[in-house]
Amino acid sequence: MLLDILLPSPCLLCSKIGKPICFSCITKLQLKGTHVKLEPLTGLAFSEYSDETALIVNSIKEKGFTAALDSLAKAMLESWPEQWAVANLVPIPSSPENQRKRGFSHTLLWARALAKNSRGLKVTPILVSTKSRKDQAQLNPDQRLTNMAQAFTVKGQIKAGPILLLDDVLTTGATLGAAETALAGAGLKGASFCVFTRVKPRNTL
Ligand SMILES: [Zn+2]
Repeated sequence: MLLDILLPSPCLLCSKIGKPICFSCITKLQLKGTHVKLEPLTGLAFSEYSDETALIVNSIKEKGFTAALDSLAKAMLESWPEQWAVANLVPIPSSPENQRKRGFSHTLLWARALAKNSRGLKVTPILVSTKSRKDQAQLNPDQRLTNMAQAFTVKGQIKAGPILLLDDVLTTGATLGAAETALAGAGLKGASFCVFTRVKPRNTL
């Protein structure tokens, strides 16, 4: 947005004038890739879900606060694992309704910000939503699985390199699971994932 360039914007988290999210607030988030197992997938979560990470995700998604993606991507890349230095980033597509409503895909923009600030990450948006679906946030774990069943299809190919699914929030893993099923069905096995923030399971039984 032109106004964002002309007028100094306040930091989303502390309102200090200067950057979309200021250096001190980014540092306080302590973004660091932590390994998460989500059978059959493994991946990284860069933060635990908190008031701050929720505000960041919602502002990007619902208010078009995409100017923050560059500094978030840079902070995530600081602890990026060596084995994914060269990888294909596959953003998880929003539901067709949300994509239409927002007019952009925040995970695609997130992938682009990561690729732009990296040496070897490539954006490969080969997952496509196949059906309308409900907002996962309002559903219980079983409903989430049903909601996400066959939610994605693969359009395109990946010839070489690790595949890394990219999403904003990890809750039960139903979305990532559905994405992995679609990829595996297209012969693309062995994908991993990375998410910006993870809601820790309350019940680990
Ligand atoms: Zn700040």
